[in-house]
Amino acid sequence: MKEHIDLGSGYTPSSRQKAESMALLIDRWLGNPFSKAMLKFCTSRCKCGRRVELALKKFGNGEAELCWKCNIAYRIVKLILNSIISRLDIEKDATIKNLEDPMWRKGLSSVLEGLAKYGVQKPFTAYSPFLVVWNFTNACNLRCKHCYQDASKPMVDELNTYEALKAVDKMGEAGVAYVALSGGEPLVRKDFFKIAERIRENEMAFSLATNGTLLTKENVKKLSDLNCLFIQISLDGATPETHNSFRGRQSFERTIQGVRNAVESGITVGIATTVTRHNLKEVFKIIDLAEKLHVDIFMHYNFIPTGRGREIVNLDLTPYEREEFLEMLASQIPERKISLLSTAPQYSRICSQFSMLSLTHFDTIGQKNSDLNFLAEFVGGCGTGRLYCALQPNGDITPCVFIPIVAGNIKSNDLLDIWHNSEIFRKIRDRKKFLGCGECKFVNICGGCRARAFAYYNDIQGPDPGCIINKEYWEMIAHKYEKEVENVILSL
Ligand SMILES: [Zn+2]
Repeated sequence: MKEHIDLGSGYTPSSRQKAESMALLIDRWLGNPFSKAMLKFCTSRCKCGRRVELALKKFGNGEAELCWKCNIAYRIVKLILNSIISRLDIEKDATIKNLEDPMWRKGLSSVLEGLAKYGVQKPFTAYSPFLVVWNFTNACNLRCKHCYQDASKPMVDELNTYEALKAVDKMGEAGVAYVALSGGEPLVRKDFFKIAERIRENEMAFSLATNGTLLTKENVKKLSDLNCLFIQISLDGATPETHNSFRGRQSFERTIQGVRNAVESGITVGIATTVTRHNLKEVFKIIDLAEKLHVDIFMHYNFIPTGRGREIVNLDLTPYEREEFLEMLASQIPERKISLLSTAPQYSRICSQFSMLSLTHFDTIGQKNSDLNFLAEFVGGCGTGRLYCALQPNGDITPCVFIPIVAGNIKSNDLLDIWHNSEIFRKIRDRKKFLGCGECKFVNICGGCRARAFAYYNDIQGPDPGCIINKEYWEMIAHKYEKEVENVILSL
C-alpha cells in the first residue's frame, strides 16, 4: 500500500504528526518482504501461547516462559519497540508500565497481528476484537421506552452459566482485551459475579453497563474487588419526572443512589444518556447533575431506532438538532470537570473542528493516557466490526449491539473465524462503499453510524441520515416520514 493514512483535518499537530510518522514508518517497514515475514513470525501462535503477547509481556518486565522461537520473537519485538519509542519520543518507562497491564498488552498484540494480516489499512482492523460488548441477559427490572434490546424477560435460549463461562474462555483464547457487560440488566443474572470472575481469570478487563438500581454497596464492593474498569449508568433525565417517564416505576432515586455508591468505590463512573427530542433540552442539566455527583464521564448515546426504540422513531433528532447538540457538547469540553463523550461517530469530526481529539469507544475505558490517544488517532472513528463486536444473550455474534445481524454463534462458531471471514464484518470494513459517508472527507475518522444506516435503510452500507453532511438523505426520508418510513421501520 503506497498511500499513508489520512487522518482528516484539524487534529492536534503533535498527535497527528506522531500518527502519520508512525503510519509511514509501519507502511515502509511492511513494504520490505523480510520485515513482513518477520512480523508474520512474531505474530503467529505457538504452543507457548500468543507469541507476540508473550513477547510484550517480557518486554513489560513480566515473567514469560518462552521456547527458542518465541525468544527470537521477543528479541525482534524488543528491537522494534525500542526503535519506535526513540523515534516517536515516547516515554519508555510509561510504555513498560502500560505493558504490565494485560488489557494494553492484548490490545497492542491485536494491532500487531492485525498489521501482519491486513497491513496498514484504511480503516485499521485489529486481529481480534479489542472489545466485546456482551448483552449478558435480556432480563431487566425496568421497561424503558427506548430499549434497543427490547428487554424484559430472559430469552428462552440465553446462555446458561456453563455456556457463558465457556464463552468467556473462548473470548480469552481469541485475544479479546476487554468485555463490556450490558443487557438487559446484567446484575439481574445470579451468576453475574461468577462470569465476571472468569473474565478476570482470563486476564481480560471488564466493565458494566447498568440502570444503577441494583448497584448496592455490597455489589459495588464486589465489582471493585474484581477490578471492574468502568461502571456506566443510564440516566435519561435530570429530574425524576423525565427519567421515570422513560424508564418507568420510581427508578430515578434508586439510580442516583447507585451512582453515589459507584462513585464512592473509586471505580471510574460514567452517566449514559440516550438523547432524543424527549430529553434534548435537559441534557446539560444531566451533565450538571453528573458533575455534582462526581461522575468521571458523560456519554451521549446516539439514539438508534431498533428494538423498542422503533416505537419512538419520531423522537429521533434531526441532523440539525444533532449537529447543534454535538457542537455544544464539544464546546464545553474545556470548562467541564467531566469527560464529555458520544457514541455518534460524527463527534470525532466536530471535536476536530474544535481542535480536540475524540476517542469515542476508546475513551470509554476512562484512560487519559497520551499513548492511548495516539493509538486511537491511528485507528479513527467507530470501531464496529474492526475493533469491537457484540455478543447477544444467546451467544449470537453481531457487529454491534445496535445491529441485529447475526454473523454466527459463540457456542458453535470460532469467534476469530466469524471476525475475519463473515460477510457482514467484511462489508462493515469497506467504508468506501458506504452511500453518502463513503465520499465524505471525514470517512476515516467517522464513517457514519452503521446501526442507524441499517435501522433506516436496512442496508449496512447505507447512509447515516443523522449527519448534517448527509442532510439530503434525511430530507428525503423526513419528507415521507409520517406515513412511510415509520411504517417501514415498525414493520422491520
Ligand atoms: Zn513458543
